[in-house]
Amino acid sequence: MNTPTIRIGHGFDLHQLVEDRKLILGGVEIPHHLGLLGHSDADCLMHALADAMLGALALPDIGHHFPDTDPSNLGIDSSIILSKVVSMIQEKGYFPGNVDLTIIAQRPKLEDYLPAIRTNLSSILGIGKNCIGLKATTHEHIGSLGREEGIATHAVCLLFKK
Ligand code: MG
Repeated sequence: MNTPTIRIGHGFDLHQLVEDRKLILGGVEIPHHLGLLGHSDADCLMHALADAMLGALALPDIGHHFPDTDPSNLGIDSSIILSKVVSMIQEKGYFPGNVDLTIIAQRPKLEDYLPAIRTNLSSILGIGKNCIGLKATTHEHIGSLGREEGIATHAVCLLFKK
């Protein structure tokens, strides 16, 4: 059976917003009165993107590779998780082509932080900023995300074999 040289992946992640936690998205700490709850730093953007890349190669998700039962993952910077996933796909001969992400956050307004997030992703993925789509949208006050109970991110990526 032929193995394709171009592969698409999709990832989705959501974390709950709570008090007394930092809000970290795409490796950037964003001033807000609530932060995301999780075993790691709960960076749902990094998690969605990592899952998209793993999914592109039909590998198990980050919960498998970085389980929350492992104390060494407690409070881990999700940039490390994403970097390890990039290494994993490179070991299989694949490289990121482009990625596209949509953050869903009713608040805070994220526009001012998108350039710094894009810089982080460019560095971790080893691709130009012109290959990193990054948008933030609200949830129009509808449902749990609209009530500011959490923040979510959708991610898609294209991987190619050199
Ligand atoms: Mg997560």
